[in-house]
Parts: sequence; structure tokens; C-alpha cells
Amino acid sequence: MKLVLATGNKGKLREFREMCEAEITPFSDLLGAFEIDETGKSFSENALIKARTIYEKLGDDYLVISDDSGISLPVLEGAPGIYSARYAKEDIQGREVTDKDNLYKLIDAIRAKGLKRTPAYYTAAIAVVGKYGEYVVHGWMHGEAIDEARGDKGFGYDPMFIPAGFEKTLGELDEEIKKKISHRGQALELAKPIIKMLKDK
Ligand code: IMP
Repeated sequence: MKLVLATGNKGKLREFREMCEAEITPFSDLLGAFEIDETGKSFSENALIKARTIYEKLGDDYLVISDDSGISLPVLEGAPGIYSARYAKEDIQGREVTDKDNLYKLIDAIRAKGLKRTPAYYTAAIAVVGKYGEYVVHGWMHGEAIDEARGDKGFGYDPMFIPAGFEKTLGELDEEIKKKISHRGQALELAKPIIKMLKDK
């Protein structure tokens, strides 16, 4: 069974290849690049939508892996959550929303509450879809979101996120540390035996 990743994101592809110790092809190499509408109401629904879409196009010889992730702040009733990648979209006219737009919108939202720091957590859902069925696992990373951006490592909301047990943001911490504690890393650890089992079945 061939492994296919339902994302065109190069960073995610590398992480998945390393963790699964297997060759994984991005779906765009087989089908060309296209957008998949994330119409689900949860991370797991969106991960499943992406994996199912690709599996339905490729068929039974393929095992399709996808992920969906984001950051949630209880003080904002869980926002931006599943909308993390498009949080600032409605404020931006005439161009694509960037990670920086989203980051500074979230910083503004914290300041608007009069807070300097507040609990936050990242979620990652990984879906595995193939002829033997559909599987979804999750990973979480808890910590605090702060009212400023610090450091330039990582991506997305990392410069404003301090993981539990640390003093620095993910923008300042070594990327090896993030790999060990991240929501995606933990979900991948759970997905790994599922992928191994189904791949050779
Ligand atoms: P998606 O999983 O590709 O739909 O992206 C989810 C969005 O959540 C990203 O665009 C980032 O804004 C955010 N996000 C998810 N994981 C991380 C992370 O590890 N660090 C920083 N931001 C993240």
C-alpha cells in the first residue's frame, strides 16, 4: 500500500516522513495541486474530509494520511480553533491571509481583554483513510498565549505561545524541543502504529 499525504505543506511532509520512517508522497504529485474545502466542525472532521477526498480519487492501493491543527483560547470561547489558518481572513482585502496577520489578530484579541497572558492549547488531529477503514488520533500541547510576539522560530502562532513548563515562547525555543512536546508530534506517535499496521496488510 502506498502512503499519500493529503497536504502540500513541505514542512508537514518532512515531519511525517521522519516519524513514519517511510516514503510518503504528497497528493499533489499524483493529482496536481487543488484546495480541499474544510467544512467540518472539528479538527477530526476536517482531517477526515481531507483524507477521504484524496482516497476517493486515488482508490484502494493507497493509504491516505492527513492532519488538521490549530490553537484554542478558552478566554475566547475556543477561538480561533479550527479557523486558525484563516482567523484574520475577513479583515484582509485583496490578498491572501498570512500567518503574521493571524498572529497579530490573536495578540490584539488578548489585549482587548486586558490580559497579558492567558491559557491556550494547540490541537492536532491526524486521519488515516484506506480500504480497511478510517482512523483518527489527536495530540495536544497546553500552555499560555501572551500579548506580544517573541522570537522567530517555528511558524504560525509560535512566537506568542509559551508551552507549559517553559519560560520562553516557541518562537524562542529550540525546534528540537518543540518536536518532542508538540501536538503534531504526539498525534504522530499515535498514528505511527496504525500506519505501520495498515501499510503492510
Ligand atoms: P492546518 O492544519 O494546515 O489547517 O493549519 C492550521 C493553522 O493552525 C496553521 O496555519 C497555524 O496558523 C496554526 N498552527 C497549527 N499548528 C501550529 C504550530 O505548531 N505552530 C504554530 N501555529 C500552528
